[in-house]
Amino acid sequence: EQDVIDYRKSLAIRVSGFEVPKPVKTFEDCGFAPQIMGAIKKQGYEKPTSIQCQALPVVLSGRDIIGIAKTGSGKTAAFVLPMIVHIMDQPELQKEEGPIGVICAPTRELAHQIYLEAKKFAKAYGIRVSAVYGGMSKLEQFKELKAGCEIVVATPGRLIDMLKMKALAMLRATYLVLDEADRMFDLGFEPQVRSIVGQIRPDRQTLLFSATMPRKVEKLAREILSDPIRVTVGEVGM
Ligand code: ADP
Ligand code: MG
Repeated sequence: EQDVIDYRKSLAIRVSGFEVPKPVKTFEDCGFAPQIMGAIKKQGYEKPTSIQCQALPVVLSGRDIIGIAKTGSGKTAAFVLPMIVHIMDQPELQKEEGPIGVICAPTRELAHQIYLEAKKFAKAYGIRVSAVYGGMSKLEQFKELKAGCEIVVATPGRLIDMLKMKALAMLRATYLVLDEADRMFDLGFEPQVRSIVGQIRPDRQTLLFSATMPRKVEKLAREILSDPIRVTVGEVGM
C-alpha cells in the first residue's frame, strides 16, 4: 500500500521479512490497556518514536525482530511495552516458576536503565522485575530470584552465575531480548549469550536490538531468531 510505504519513508524506516505489520502512528493504535496508556502518559511520551512506530506492531504480533537504530531512539520502550502485554497474556495459573521475560544487556549501567524503565510499566500490574548484574552480592541476588519474578534484566555473566547456582529456572521464559547486541559482542560476551539462549525454550519470541549490525551479530541473529522481521531506522554502520 502506497500510504504505508510513504509513511515508513517519512520515518526513515526500512523493513524486510515476511508479512510485515503496518507501522502505527500513535500509542493508541497499539491497543494498549488503560494501565499501560496511563504509564506511557506519565512518562510524558506523547507519540511513538520512529523505531517504536514499526517495532511495536511487529513485536505485539508475536514476531521475532531485529531492530537496528542508533542510541537514543527509544528502543527500550519498543521491547518493554510488548513484554508487559506478553506477560499479561500468559495463563494465570502456571506450575512453572522463573521469569517470563529475560533481557540481556552488555553493561551494568545499561541493564540498570532498562530495569528502571521496566519497573515503571510493570508496577501497574504487580509484575515483579529483578535486576541481575554486579552491584548486589550474589547471595542477595540469589535470595531475590528465589522469591520469584516475571522479568529479569541481566548482564550475561551474572545471569550465567545465577543459572549455575540454580537461583532461577528458565522453564517459563518465552520472551527474550538481546539489547545492544553489537556491544555485547565487542565486550566478548558471545559465549555467555549463546549459553543463555540455549537454555531458553525454542518456541520463545526473540528480539535483538543493536545500533550496528556487524557480521558476527548478523550470524547470531540468523541462528537464534525465527522468521524475523528486520526494522532499520536511518543509516546504519556495519
Ligand atoms: P535507545 O535504547 O534507543 O538508546 P532509550 O530507550 O534509552 O533509547 O530512549 C532514549 C530516551 O528517549 C529516554 O530518555 C526515553 O525515556 C526517551 N523516550 C523513549 N520513547 C519516547 C517517546 N515515545 N517519546 C518521548 N521520549 C521517549
Ligand atoms: Mg538502549
